[in-house]
Amino acid sequence: MGYNCVVLVKQVPDTKRISGKVMNDDGTVNRSALPAIFNPEDLNAIETALQIKDKFTGRLVVISMGPPSAAAILRESLFRGADETILISDPGCAASDTLATSYILSCAVKKLDYDIVLCGRQAIDGDTAQVGPQLAEKLGITQISYVEELTELVGRTITVRRNIGNGWQQVKASLPVLLTVTSDANEPRVAAAKKMMKYKNALTPIEAEQKIKSENPQANSSEVKKLVERKCGELKEKGLLIKHWNLNDISADMTWCGQSGSPTKVHRIQSVVLAAKQSKEIQPTDEGIADMIHELIEDKTIA
Ligand SMILES: Cc1cc2nc3c(=O)[nH]c(=O)nc-3n(C[C@H](O)[C@H](O)[C@H](O)COP(=O)(O)OP(=O)(O)OC[C@H]3O[C@@H](n4cnc5c(N)ncnc54)[C@H](O)[C@@H]3O)c2cc1C
Repeated sequence: MGYNCVVLVKQVPDTKRISGKVMNDDGTVNRSALPAIFNPEDLNAIETALQIKDKFTGRLVVISMGPPSAAAILRESLFRGADETILISDPGCAASDTLATSYILSCAVKKLDYDIVLCGRQAIDGDTAQVGPQLAEKLGITQISYVEELTELVGRTITVRRNIGNGWQQVKASLPVLLTVTSDANEPRVAAAKKMMKYKNALTPIEAEQKIKSENPQANSSEVKKLVERKCGELKEKGLLIKHWNLNDISADMTWCGQSGSPTKVHRIQSVVLAAKQSKEIQPTDEGIADMIHELIEDKTIA
């Protein structure tokens, strides 16, 4: 029996290699100051889906919502074994918080035939870990978060082990299900050289248009349109077209997308740097630790 998996992946700024001015004055991230990478735990989600596909067969579709440059992680997904990739990119997605993001992703996933939806546990930029659970809610399916092991998949029943902080819990659920996967779940496989050779020229229609414009600087807009259509047809035939869906394609209600669908406003971002003079030495005794805890409760650092 085969299982159709849909994995949601996010391109994120590499927060370990920050340089230049990271935040814009309006509180949004200056993504050009940061190298973009595959959100690490999304690679674990892909690996879990690939293991399901290896063992049981089925289709693996990978979706990302983001700017045109997010096509890079979709190509990477093809290198690792995805059967189909979809980029959701639309100016109306900009400034989406987790509610709007999960709404947009739910509109896309609803268009697909799926048994298991997989997300990373958390994205390293927004850091909320809310998108997976919110997406499950909007799809109306069971969710199991913090998955660290897929124990068993028999018929329409899945058993997983989930991390509960101070231990683990074994959970059984009926499909369809949404899993959010942690970095402990597996070791993501490296991209396959053969697939890299096959898919290195995979493009989205947006990238195809950019390429055609740079190769044909004299072409007018209707010539560019024709050339893009032809190029996309050729790419599709060879299995090298990364699909592009806009908000119309997924029948999304614009009021639930982008800024209008986002109740969260980032008021201020503060970089907290602890200077040496702010440090305090604590004696490694029961009394020293009790004093420290008391002090932290007093100044409301912990409750
Ligand atoms: C500094 C900062 C603070 C923010 N604070 C908030 C806040 O307080 N509240 C809020 O609602 N939003 C906030 N945001 C916005 C937040 O980054 C976006 O809403 C984002 O689209 C999703 O949230 P996340 O990054 O926390 O994802 P998470 O919920 O941590 O992501 C979990 C998983 O969901 C999937 N996923 C997430 N985004 C996408 C995507 N675009 N495409 C495909 N799959 C995806 C991935 O599998 C990912 O591993 C903040 C952003 C920044 C930069």
